[in-house]
This record gives sequence, structure tokens and C-alpha cells, in this order.
Amino acid sequence: MRRITVKELISWKQQQLSKGGDDQSFSFLLDSVGGVSSSEINLLKTNSRDNLYLKRNLSFLESIWEDHLLSASPIQHLCGITFWRDLKLEVSNKVLIPRPETELIVDIVFEIFGRESQKLLFAELGTGSGAISIALALAYPLWEGIATDIDQEALRIASKNFINTSNQSNLNFYFGHWWNPLENFKGKLDLAISNPPYIPGDIYEKLPKEVKNFEPKIALFGGEDGLKHIREIIQGAPLFLKEKGWLILENHYDQGEKVKQLLIKNRFTLVEILNDFSGIGRFTIGRYK
Ligand code: GLN
Repeated sequence: MRRITVKELISWKQQQLSKGGDDQSFSFLLDSVGGVSSSEINLLKTNSRDNLYLKRNLSFLESIWEDHLLSASPIQHLCGITFWRDLKLEVSNKVLIPRPETELIVDIVFEIFGRESQKLLFAELGTGSGAISIALALAYPLWEGIATDIDQEALRIASKNFINTSNQSNLNFYFGHWWNPLENFKGKLDLAISNPPYIPGDIYEKLPKEVKNFEPKIALFGGEDGLKHIREIIQGAPLFLKEKGWLILENHYDQGEKVKQLLIKNRFTLVEILNDFSGIGRFTIGRYK
């Protein structure tokens, strides 16, 4: 532990930020590697001679910050973790850094199924870091979950994240492309969820370099119109969902209506587009018949 006064920490932070980067990323570094959160700093601000205790020394934190500024590598990659809902998850360049808006998928599930629910079977297609599946497995200890991914390294990270955040055993990890690993679960799923790659070709090319150069293309690029994977998932869903089973998809900001039509065409009912915090139709849900 390195002792530092609040005043010293604030002035050191300002000095680092004057080199570049944004406050949010710097606060993330201080919190995840330094062990000091912004709320702790704010709380003590009025007594600036109070001490804070950092887990690592300033020069170590400074070297990560400079690496971030120089390489444009996401701060979460350099720190090796991210925070998502109430989870602390390992991330690397093999998985998409789970986004804040995706946190709402878990709330959508709470809305549909309530908090106290009997035994159900869910699958998440393309789990990446495991965020969604882990949150659900923790919230619903009676449910059984299957989390799939096309990347072995992503599955390794996801299962490690599950072990690190829980002592439950109600989530299993399967390797493969969309529905392929679920052959044994035809007609058995109560719920399927996916945040698939949905960025259209022209937009993918223009993504910020922090995303395009460091996050996996396979987790972002959704073919020329962005809907390649969403289409495949919707078309396969009726074979795997139980009657009245739900499908929840995340989509790009302007894809909601198209995804809705695809669901209707594939005989889904109660199809709805749901907004994220910014009022964007980010999720499309439906029930199979
Ligand atoms: N929302 C993510 C992004 O911005 C994209 C995630 C996805 O394609 N599933 O970059």
C-alpha cells in the first residue's frame, strides 16, 4: 500500500490528464489497478490532507497511462479487467469489452421472468467475456445456462470469469458457431440471448481506432448490412426455443425495425423494440409463438 494525500493524488491526476486522455479512463485506471475509486476521492475532497492508500505506486500507474496514450489501446485491456453491472471481469483483445448499454439485457430478463423464477434453461450465443450469462446465472441460481462462443480463448476467459465471480455450477460453456453447439437442446430453451456482431461494413471501417485496432472484428462486424448474424440467429431460433420461449437480441441503433420484421416473419409474437438509456431502440425481443 502506498500512502498519498487526497490533495497530492488530485494534483498528480491533473498532471497525468494534461498529457491527454479522458477523465473516465483515468478514473478507471485508478480504481481497477490503484484500488481507489472516484467516489472515495470525492468523499474525501473536502479534507484534502486525508490519506488514501494506493495498491500500486504512482510510477507504475503512470506507465500504464502513458502506454494507453501512446498506443490508443483501451484502458480496460491494459488493466486486464472491466466493471460491468456489479461484476469485475477479466477482458483481453479476444473478447469485446462489455458495454454499459448491454447491462440492460439483464433488466429485460428480470422484466420478463421476474426475480423469483423456477428452473429454466437459457442459452447465450456469443458470450465473449461471459458478462450476460454470468449475471443471469448469479441472479437465478435455479436456472441452467449455456454460454457459447466461436473463440476458444474467449470461452477460457468467460469460464474463468464465472469461477472468479461465483461458486455456482449452473453455467456451462460450449464452443461453436451460433446454434451449432446446441444440437442437444432442440426445443428445450426457455430463453435465448445474443449480443451478436452487428456493425455494418461502412460503419466498421470508421470506428474509433481504440475499438477497431484492438477489439475483435469477429465480435463487431455484422457483414455488409450488419444483419448477417442477427438473421442467422433468428432463423435458427424456432428449432431451439420451447414453445413460448423468448429471444432477446441487441442490435445497432437503427436496426430495431428490421430486426422486428425478421422476428415477425419467423413467427415470433409479442415482438417489441426496447430502448437503451439514450433512447435508442437497442434491443429487440420476441416470443416464439
Ligand atoms: N455496441 C458495440 C459497439 O459499439 C457493438 C457490439 C456488437 O457489435 N455487438 O461498439
